[in-house]
Order: sequence, then structure tokens, then C-alpha cells
Amino acid sequence: MLLIVYSPCMKNEDIIAVKNILSNPKKIVIVPHKNPDGDAIGSCLGLYHFLVQLNHDITIIAPNDYPHFLKWMPGNDSILLFETDSKKCESIIQNTDIIFTLDFNALFRTGDMETSLKDSKAIKIMIDHHQKPDDYSNYVYSDVMMSSTAEMVYHFISKLSLNHLINAEVANCLYAGVMTDTGSFRFPNTSSTTHRLIADLIDKGANNSAIHHNVYDTNSYQRTQLLGRALNNLHVLPDLKTAYIVLSQSDLNEFNFKKGDTEGFVNYGLTIEGIVFAAIFIESMQDQIIKISFRSKGSFDVNEFSRAHFGGGGHMNAAGGKSELSLLQTVEKFISILPQYKSTLT
Ligand code: 5GP
Ligand code: MN
Repeated sequence: MLLIVYSPCMKNEDIIAVKNILSNPKKIVIVPHKNPDGDAIGSCLGLYHFLVQLNHDITIIAPNDYPHFLKWMPGNDSILLFETDSKKCESIIQNTDIIFTLDFNALFRTGDMETSLKDSKAIKIMIDHHQKPDDYSNYVYSDVMMSSTAEMVYHFISKLSLNHLINAEVANCLYAGVMTDTGSFRFPNTSSTTHRLIADLIDKGANNSAIHHNVYDTNSYQRTQLLGRALNNLHVLPDLKTAYIVLSQSDLNEFNFKKGDTEGFVNYGLTIEGIVFAAIFIESMQDQIIKISFRSKGSFDVNEFSRAHFGGGGHMNAAGGKSELSLLQTVEKFISILPQYKSTLT
């Protein structure tokens, strides 16, 4: 059996309290953030398959839909979408005993679900690795050093001394979460502990090769063509060690854009030698905003950058943001801000 070095989890007294709460059947809702990614869906479904074995009545409610390459996970069909089923979801939220909020640090990150969650009297338990968690939950497991929320769900289960309940379903979902949030185990937050628990998940039935295939090798031809357009639209500012991609709504339309098609594009900027800061600006006519992703290497803090200028946040090396200016004006604003960061873009 593998020996896992545990990270600091919840406070011991909180673990005892949570264990007590979960010791008899409860109504439980599990919630990821809006536009859920692999870590959000993987950690929710991993927790779901774990809790089901303790005879709880569990519903996962995602704020909105997510890409097809996350829909292969066991239990996917049971996930409700608040955006398409809001009355039913509101009623479940108002009548539940416990709400787990996974992979986000502030209730506004659930979009239109925010009010329902705020109004609910349920016990709230947060498991998350984003910076600066808001104070909305009764029990908090927050650790910004963690690779992923899925890794934290693993530690949470371990801390409850219920590792034997990590079956193949739990293992496949948690593996997918860790894999997607670590860029397939290569970002700096991938620790030796991450690798140990990944090994343990494989031992417990995670089909690593199939998971990589399902997430990364199920592109449509048009998505691959859109990547070509994005790479053509990649601009480099060598003096500022910055690269950025611009995609207009008409670029997206040309290639029959589907949710998730631009996932990962931003990372191509960082593959250029000498580049430490990458951004992608994507026009969304539907949401009337420009969606932005920032990525960095080393010490340039994109969480701070996005908070300061683009109404977003996230982690030091990966953050999201938005702009209500036009696409062109947004890019111009970005370029005009950059010189003040020149000394930190190293
Ligand atoms: P992405 O660029 O993939 O949308 O987001 C990168 C990371 O930043 C993800 O971990 C995502 O959850 C987080 N993130 C995206 N937008 C926001 C935001 O507005 N606020 C905060 N706190 N985190 C965000
Ligand atoms: Mn995450």
C-alpha cells in the first residue's frame, strides 16, 4: 500500500464535526463554479461517488453547461444545470441539509445561482484552492498550494479515514480533475504528493490512458481549424515577454464554435521561448463581454493583474477575467497597461 504524505487539511475539530454530520444519511448538493472545467466537474463527481456509498441523497447542480470532453465521466448524466432547470434546482437547494461548494472561492462565481446559495440555510462546506476565499461557508478546506480541488477531495476522504471508499468511479473522476488542472502533471503546483495520489488512483481503477484520450483526443476537425486561426492571431511583444491571442466572434462563427473549443489555446503563447505572460481575448456576443484568460510562468502574478485591471482572478499562474469594452479597445487597454509591469515580467 502506498504511503501518502497528507497536506494540512481542515482543522481536526472540523474534520470530526464533518465526519459526524456525514455519519447518517443527509440531503446533499454539490456545486462547481460557472463554466465548469475538468477540475470542477471531476472533483464534484469524485465527491459524489464517494458520498453515495455513505447512503446520502446527492444532487450535483452546475450553474451552466460544460464542454463535451468532460461528459464521459461516470455519473455525468445525473448532473443538473441551473441555467436550464432553475425552478427545480432552487427547490432542491432550499431543501437540502448540506452544500459542498467545490473549486471556487466566492459565491458570485456561480453566476445566477448566487442568490439561491446565499439564501439557503444548509451547512456549507468549501473545498477550494483559489486565492482569497470569501467567508460564506461553515467549514472551509482552502489551500492555495494544492494542484487541484480534485487532489483536495482525495485528501479530504483520507482525512475522514475512508480511503477504502475510493473505488474506480471516484478514482476516474478525481484523476481527470488533477490531470486537467495540472496541465497533465507539469505545472509547478504538481508535487510528489500529487504523483503519489495519482498512482494510488490508478491502483484503484483510474484508467489513465483512456482519460487522457477522452479529454485531449476528441477534438472536432473545426476545433482544430479554429486552433489554426488562433495561432495565426498570436501576437508577440518580445520586450515585455508577452504573447496574446485575439479571437473575434466572427472567427468563432466561421469554425462553428462549441463550448470548450478554445480551452487550452492560451497556453500556446507560453510555449514560445522567452515568453512568461500569455493572454487570450475572446469576443462573446451572447454575453456582451470579452472573455479573457491569463497564464504566466514564474513569479508574474496573473491573479493580481486580472483583479487590478480585468475584474477577475484565480491563481498566480492562471486567472480569468472579462472586459465590457470592444475587442479592439480591450486589447489596446491590455497593451497600454503592460509597460508598468516591465520590471516584473522577467
Ligand atoms: P480560465 O482562464 O481557465 O477561465 O481560468 C483560470 C483560473 O482562474 C481557473 O482556476 C478559474 O477557476 C479561475 N478564474 C477564472 N475567472 C475567475 C474570476 O473571475 N475570479 C476568480 N477568483 N477566479 C477566476
Ligand atoms: Mn481547480
